[in-house]
Amino acid sequence: MPEQFTSWEAIFASLSGAFPAERYHAGMELEIAEATANGVTLRANRETLTADLLIAADGFRSETQARFAPETISRYAGYIAWRGVADETDLPDALVAFFDDNFCFCDVGGGGHALCYLIPSEGGSTAKGTRRLNWVWYVTVPEGESLNSVMTDGAGRQRHASVPAGHVNATALNDLHRRAENLEPHFADLVRATPEPFIQSIFDVAPPEMVFGRVCLLGDAAFVVRPHTAATAKAAADASEMKVFGRAGSTAGSDIRDYLSRTVIAFDWVELENAGQCRDMLGIDSFETLELPIVEFPDGERIFAPKPQDIAARLGWVTAPKHEEYDLSIYGGGPSGLSAAVYAASEGLRTILTFPNRVVRVQS
Ligand SMILES: Cc1cc2nc3c(=O)[nH]c(=O)nc-3n(C[C@H](O)[C@H](O)[C@H](O)COP(=O)(O)OP(=O)(O)OC[C@H]3O[C@@H](n4cnc5c(N)ncnc54)[C@H](O)[C@@H]3O)c2cc1C
Repeated sequence: MPEQFTSWEAIFASLSGAFPAERYHAGMELEIAEATANGVTLRANRETLTADLLIAADGFRSETQARFAPETISRYAGYIAWRGVADETDLPDALVAFFDDNFCFCDVGGGGHALCYLIPSEGGSTAKGTRRLNWVWYVTVPEGESLNSVMTDGAGRQRHASVPAGHVNATALNDLHRRAENLEPHFADLVRATPEPFIQSIFDVAPPEMVFGRVCLLGDAAFVVRPHTAATAKAAADASEMKVFGRAGSTAGSDIRDYLSRTVIAFDWVELENAGQCRDMLGIDSFETLELPIVEFPDGERIFAPKPQDIAARLGWVTAPKHEEYDLSIYGGGPSGLSAAVYAASEGLRTILTFPNRVVRVQS
């Protein structure tokens, strides 16, 4: 599947650019003075404001959450994330080339895993030579003395949620560099070459409710999900499912459902039995002559009687191979084909794996 990565700075720049500057008040800390059935009174610096509704997106240590849902469960998950961002121009070309155009994972001897991908520059540029490498390494750290010591910053201050870039204590940093020997060599080089790694401790936070009259919690203030790959994508997919409409028992319908299930696409299967249902659900006044199945995408576009390759093309999965020649090509993306591809790539072979309607380049 084509991959697209972005960064917080790039998202912030585009969203804040679309929001009127005169309504964006930086440097203001809000405090709820009163919340009634009709609205909310807020204090911000020395001003008092009233609002019909308040959306509290004040992060995982939300004071709004503490006030309205004091019984919220907040628990250290048992591990921290070491993180780092390095400008590609500060790294050797071969190291950048290894990570370029790939979402790289590294299973770490002794537990945990690391991942790395390229993100845009601070200004949002994705041009080669301006990008940054972003890595995360999840490391188990027992609660108590070990956690306290890694979360104590260079000035001796005990931190809880994070130790920002430039503030990690020297012992923790040396330990990180020493333990990098357990990583795949490119990952190890990247970790050691990153100027100012930082730390985030991982918490699970689950309040019993998100809405309290005119006040609503949003984002991490409402719920913290563990930050693992595809968590957000899965939530987004759940919120925007595809629909497949078809006749009961039809082979074409079953082929499409089988294809979507194998490619881990969430969808609703809707069985149509008569013209009334077609009218109500699809706004189409026929049943006997209707070309089925119909696949409806989250944006409302429909394709009639598609083949799996039509769906793959619509989802942007059909991409040109990166190289003209490969050392090894594998046909079939079941467990055998996939394992063979991963082992071959880990031995340094340029490997391509194809299965119906999808081509995967494999990088160890
Ligand atoms: C290791 C790790 C990796 C992650 N990787 C990803 C990833 O790859 N992709 C992804 O989508 N997510 C990722 N996340 C999750 C993501 O960072 C959070 O879900 C996201 O930052 C939550 O956004 P938020 O706006 O809810 O809260 P926050 O980002 O915490 O923002 C809260 C804001 O509210 C402000 N604030 C607090 N109190 C007040 C107040 N009283 N008045 C005014 N302002 C206030 C704070 O200053 C802050 O600006 C990751 C998280 C971790 C820990």
